[in-house]
Amino acid sequence: KVYLGEKSLEARRVFCIGRNYADHIKELSDQVPEKPVIFMKPETSLVPEGIEVGFPAHGKEFHYETELVLLIGKEGKPAAAGKALDYVAGISLGFDLTMRDVQRYLLPKGLPWELCKSFDQSAPVGKFVEKEKIKDINSIEFFGKVNGKVVQHGNSSQMINSFGTLVFEISQAWKLLPGDLIYTGTPSGIGPVGRGDTITAESAGMGSFSWRISA
Ligand code: MG
Repeated sequence: KVYLGEKSLEARRVFCIGRNYADHIKELSDQVPEKPVIFMKPETSLVPEGIEVGFPAHGKEFHYETELVLLIGKEGKPAAAGKALDYVAGISLGFDLTMRDVQRYLLPKGLPWELCKSFDQSAPVGKFVEKEKIKDINSIEFFGKVNGKVVQHGNSSQMINSFGTLVFEISQAWKLLPGDLIYTGTPSGIGPVGRGDTITAESAGMGSFSWRISA
């Protein structure tokens, strides 16, 4: 389940976008992609607030990536990128948790990303705020913190592909369904979390959401 204001709805697919902030692409020495990089996580990756996140057993470098997350509220395929935001019901913050050492092994070999990105509890997500309550969704400032210290500072205005473009590109392959989530990429400042650490994602208009990593 995901929460939108006072309502709750069943989560459906969890789409994620890779390499959507230039400063993050630079820190990983990656290439700017020609098209949005799209991958998915299973529904079992979602973690609501109040649940501890287990430290995965299949790797050592457990990294946070703080991201703005869209909630789709309507079924269908937008006619154009300019119409795609009509399908977005809410916005929140979450973490695209990543096993960086596993990713370093998989990526150069061209192997699928699931092991490094789509494991259980890899997608903590906060409560969604109705899109209409956000002043300017193209300029949302947000922060990622570890144990209360700011480690990431991003703004949706820095995204390479806008929310509308991302929703539209996804809809070209998957008809949008209410309850679909879209993680929209992370700014620079990614790094490791350890057992017992607390990760927090926050934005002035949306609130502050925290998860503890199990000791
Ligand atoms: Mg990410």
